[in-house]
This record gives sequence, C-alpha cells and structure tokens, in this order.
Amino acid sequence: MAASSFDLARSHAHVANNYHPLAVCLSRGDGAWVEDVNGTRYLDFLAGYSALNFGHRHPRLVAAATAQLERMTLTSRAFDNDQLPVFCDALAELCGMDLVLPMNTGAEAVETALKTARKWGYEVKGVPEPKAEIIVMSGNFHGRTISIISFSDDPAAHDHFGPHTPGFVKVPYGDAAAVEAAITEHTVAVLVEPIQGEAGVITPPDGYLTAVRELCTRHRVLMLADEIQSGLGRTGRTFACDHEGVRPDAYILGKALGGGILPVSAVVAPTDVLGVFAPGQHGSTFGGNPLAAAVGVEVIRMLREGEIQQRARDLGVAFHDRLAALPSSQVSAVRTRGLWAGIDVVGRSGREVCDGLVARGVLTKDTHGHTLRLAPPLTISADDLALGLDRLADELAAG
Ligand SMILES: *Cc1c(COP(=O)(O)O)cnc(C)c1O
Repeated sequence: MAASSFDLARSHAHVANNYHPLAVCLSRGDGAWVEDVNGTRYLDFLAGYSALNFGHRHPRLVAAATAQLERMTLTSRAFDNDQLPVFCDALAELCGMDLVLPMNTGAEAVETALKTARKWGYEVKGVPEPKAEIIVMSGNFHGRTISIISFSDDPAAHDHFGPHTPGFVKVPYGDAAAVEAAITEHTVAVLVEPIQGEAGVITPPDGYLTAVRELCTRHRVLMLADEIQSGLGRTGRTFACDHEGVRPDAYILGKALGGGILPVSAVVAPTDVLGVFAPGQHGSTFGGNPLAAAVGVEVIRMLREGEIQQRARDLGVAFHDRLAALPSSQVSAVRTRGLWAGIDVVGRSGREVCDGLVARGVLTKDTHGHTLRLAPPLTISADDLALGLDRLADELAAG
C-alpha cells in the first residue's frame, strides 16, 4: 500500500472532497473479495452499502448485462424498449403490486415517492393545495437531494443547503404513538425505513411497522417504505417489512436492484397510488433503460428463487452469535437482522477500527462516530464470513 499512497494522493487532486474514503485503492472485485492496485486482497464487508448483495460481478448478472450490452443500452423513454415491460412485470409481481415507476438512483426513487404522495393527497384524498404534509423519522437517511436533506437531522447533510423544502414533519423513529399524534387532516404519507441503515442498522421495536401500517390505513395516509438498503434479501426476507407481514402502499427500491452493476431504482405501488401520474408529469432520461432493465430482471429472478434470502437467514445465525459474543469492553451494542449488523465500538472511533481492519484485509465503513456497519455480500461463503469475523475480533481485541 505504501507504494501506491503517493499515486493515490495525486490521483485525487481533481476529486471533489465530499467523501473520506479509507486508504485503499481498489481495482478488482470477485464475489466477496476485492483487490487493490498492489494486488492485496480484502474481504468486502460493506458491499456497496448493500448495492452488492449479490457480490462483485455475479456471473449471472454479468451475463445478463453483457448480453444486453451487445444489443441495446439506451433509448430514452421517448421510445419503448423490449426490456422495460419485462422488468416492470417481474418487479410488480415480486412486490405484489400493480405498477412500477423506474428511476436510477435511490434518492430519485424517494423523490418519486414523495411526489406521488403529494399528488395522491391532492387528487385522491382531497387535501387542499399546497398543504400536504409528509411524516418522516428522526435519524432518517433517504438520499441527498435538496428536498430529502431538508428533513435530515444530520447537520452535515442538512446545514447550509437552505432554503429547505417545507411540508415535512419529523417524529422519533420507532414510536408509533408519535406518528399518530403528528397526523393531521393534511397528512398524505408516512415515509419510513423499516430498518435505519445509515443511522447504524437501527431496528425499531417489534410491532412498530404493524402499528404504522394500521395508523396509515385508519387515517387514509400512504405508508411509503424506503427499502433501498433494507430490501432485496439483506435481512433474510425479500423486504424488511416482511418480518412483520406488513405491506406498505409503496416500496422504494434501489441499491441491489442494479445488481452492483449500474444504478437501478424504482417505486412500486398499487394503481390507485402510482396511477396519479400522467405523461409529462414525471420522468428520467435513463430511467427504465434497457441495460438497467435487463440487469434488474436477472436480479428479480434470483430473488424469486429465494436462495439469497435463505443464505442471509442461515449465515445470519452464526453472524449474530459471533458478534453478540464480542466482549462488552470492546462493543457496547450489537444490532443484527439477517446478514446486516450495526455494532457500537467502545473506546475508539469507528474510523480507527476501520483503518485497523484495512491492515487486516477487511473493508467496512464507520457511521456516526462509534458505529460499524457490517453488510457482507449475501453470496459470501460461511468460511469467508468466519474469516472476516475472526479478523474483526482480532482488531477489536488489539485496540
Ligand atoms: C442509499 C440510500 C438512499 C439513497 O440512494 P442513492 O442511490 O445513494 O441516491 C435512500 N434511502 C436509503 C434507505 C438508502 O440506504
């Protein structure tokens, strides 16, 4: 790594400073393993914040992308393409919903859901314009657009980007009574992450999602589930909402939907919700492009087979047990669901532990000071998972 540090610094001279990456420069990926420019191998325990649920360059996804690359990549939505309806059919069926609105990044899908909810509120629910209110949660992360960061309570994300978009009401995460207290005649939606990934894999109390679902139904408010990070197998189920048998009014999907190859996101909802859009009212040049759709179709096929969810459940048992056994002198809290964990380290910053882990050949990223997020690819072998956890235990013990 020493040999490349100069090159690394030089190559970053023109890279804007909006990230603080670990001191590793990657050039190859294969399954759960990545390799840096010096040929050093690392286990990827972050998996692109769950965009790489299927690992790096999964053969089926690479094959789907390659085949489509040879045929057609982009049409814009000015013309139909043969892949888009296949993708939308498959995704609607996976979700048990009617309509799919494809976008690219997660933030765009969240924006799409917010626009859907406002329009639904005015046209279907009869809320007077422009009074629509959307209830959001403390500690939320939904992306980086102006409107989305307007209701973030992370100062780094929120401050100095005003004027902020109005129309959002924030309540404490995990508190269904607070949601109910915040509902008014102008409320059109509740936007919730079933598990808060960026906040540190924060799982709400059991019954919370069920309670929010009931409130939304009773008050005729849309439940918008941001499953961009929690969905598509990570927690051992297709959606994190499945753990409580809850069906939201809209799924917001992204990250793993693109198979780790390209950005693919979508809002998936019933016709009486997503049907509010008419031509010209929303869109995206790249949304639903044939390459994205072809990769997305293969992702959905793999999810329908269910093996990836099963792996997350099976591997998640040992994963949880190993993490829960870490000494409390090193780790003060462990939160897991499937193959996803947030652990709060004691006495050192999360960054320091991540830097130490780089030297031991494991990559992950800290969040909020003292929390490490662990999200290995769901395709990881049991042996590689154990190896990564051994290295983590060694690093924590050495601290
Ligand atoms: C990553 C993420 C987003 C934003 O997705 P981008 O593709 O980075 O725009 C939104 N919501 C959640 C829950 C996420 O984890």
